[in-house]
Amino acid sequence: NAGGQDAKNLRVKLVLLGDSGVGKSCIVLRFVRGQFDPTSKVTVGASFLSQTIALQDSTTVKFEIWDTAGQERYAALAPLYYRGAAVAVIVYDITSPESFSKAQYWVKELQKHGSPDIVMALVGNKADLNEKREVAVQDGTEYAEKNGMFFIETSAKTADNINELFEEIAKRLPRPPV
Ligand code: GDP
Ligand code: MG
Repeated sequence: NAGGQDAKNLRVKLVLLGDSGVGKSCIVLRFVRGQFDPTSKVTVGASFLSQTIALQDSTTVKFEIWDTAGQERYAALAPLYYRGAAVAVIVYDITSPESFSKAQYWVKELQKHGSPDIVMALVGNKADLNEKREVAVQDGTEYAEKNGMFFIETSAKTADNINELFEEIAKRLPRPPV
């Protein structure tokens, strides 16, 4: 069909939200290109990338990933950014309690203004920096549980749990009727 959307092949808009520097762009680049560039300071790469994954039940999900820096600086632009998104990935850095607070702000914002059936994932990134950890795993787990979200800790640097994050999101997407 025209939209490329049927019961077996989903196409979804995915946005990333969270403080600047938590690793949103690195997560996307790791997922889409299998790369990590430690020299990149702030937002790297294109602001729009897509990646298709196949699930075990032979359905495919094409993620159209929106990764912009604008929402970090201008909260007023955020609604334009997440409008129509089927998935919101809200990222914090496990070494930064401030970024965890900001993640909670985004959860509330999406609960108020996002699509009612949006799939939200809470991601604690930089899990490789465990010796500098300042947000307990349990804090992420509990907050996500209370808010009906999926929670995972990732490392864009080591690739730990990056594919798992997107696979889990894909499984949770509402399916169009067959
Ligand atoms: P964004 O502003 O949220 O898009 O963050 P970036 O993806 O640009 O990453 C910000 C900084 O964090 C960069 O210096 C990255 O190299 C670093 N970074 C991103 N992900 C990880 C990670 O999983 N582990 C570590 N140790 N550093 C990371
Ligand atoms: Mg970025």
